[in-house]
Amino acid sequence: MNYDVVVSGAGPAGSRCAEILARNGFNVALIERDINWRKPCGGGLSTRVMSKYYPQIRKLNPVSKKGAFMFSADFHKIEYNWEDYGEDSVVMDRLELDNLMRDIAVEAGAELFDKNTSFDFIIKNQKKIGVKTKTKSGIKEYLGKIIVIADGMSSKLAVRSGLRERWKIENIGLAKCSIIEGKTDFDETKSYIYFRPYKGYGWVFPIDNNQINIGCGTFEEDNLNYNLNEIYDDFINNPNIK
Ligand SMILES: Cc1cc2nc3c(=O)[nH]c(=O)nc-3n(C[C@H](O)[C@H](O)[C@H](O)COP(=O)(O)OP(=O)(O)OC[C@H]3O[C@@H](n4cnc5c(N)ncnc54)[C@H](O)[C@@H]3O)c2cc1C
Repeated sequence: MNYDVVVSGAGPAGSRCAEILARNGFNVALIERDINWRKPCGGGLSTRVMSKYYPQIRKLNPVSKKGAFMFSADFHKIEYNWEDYGEDSVVMDRLELDNLMRDIAVEAGAELFDKNTSFDFIIKNQKKIGVKTKTKSGIKEYLGKIIVIADGMSSKLAVRSGLRERWKIENIGLAKCSIIEGKTDFDETKSYIYFRPYKGYGWVFPIDNNQINIGCGTFEEDNLNYNLNEIYDDFINNPNIK
C-alpha cells in the first residue's frame, strides 16, 4: 500500500496531523494499535483549544469547568476560580475524544488502519520508506514518502529511528485512573487536584453529574518506591476524597 504520508498512532497528534494533510490533498495512512483502548488521562480540555480546533465537541454538550479545588497532602484546600479570566475547560471521556478526532481525520480523507501495531521501518537503500505493522492476520507494510511517528511514549518506531532511547522508568510518570458512574457530591463545574505525600498527584475530574474521572500517579524515582495499584486503591478509598 502506497501513501504520501504514513502516520503511526491515532492519538490527538496523529489524528490532527492526518486530518490536516488529508484536507490538503495528501494521501494519508493513519495507523492505530487499538481504537478501543482508553488512554489513562484526565480528559481535561481548554474550551479555547476546543473552539479553535474541534468545535464539533460542543455538540456533545460537555459541562464547563469554572475552577478547581486544590488539596495539600494533608487535605488543606484552596479554591481557584478562572471564570473571571474568561477561560474555562471541559472534561471528556478520553476514548470518546480520541475516536471523535479519528473520525474527523477519516472524514477529511485519511485511511484509518485499526489493530495495526507499528514495530519497524521498511528500509530500501538505507532510506526508511515505510512502516511494518503486526496484525492478527500477519505482518502488513505501508509505504510512505514521509513517515510521522505519533505513537506516544511507548513508541517502538521512535526508538528504532534512533531519535530517542527507550524511556527509563525513573524518567517517566505512571498513572492509573478510571471512569466511575453514579451520583457523588463532587461539583461537576469544578476540578479536584490532590497533592500526595510522594512525588505525584491525584485528581477527580467530574465529566458530568453522573460520571467522574478519578486517578493518581507517581513520577521519577517514586515510580520505584511506590506500588501504583496500592496507591490508587488508597486514593480512591480515602475518606477525605468524596
Ligand atoms: C495520567 C495522565 C493524565 C493526563 N491528563 C491530561 C488532561 O487532563 N488534559 C490534557 O490536555 N492532557 C492530559 N494528559 C496528556 C495527554 O494525554 C497527552 O499530551 C496526549 O495524549 C498526547 O497525545 P499524542 O497523540 O502525542 O499521544 P497519545 O495520546 O499517547 O497517542 C498515541 C497513539 O498511538 C497509539 N499507539 C501506540 N503504540 C502504537 C504502535 N506501536 N502502533 C500503532 N499505534 C500505536 C496509541 O494507541 C494512541 O492512540 C495526561 C496524560 C496522562 C498520562
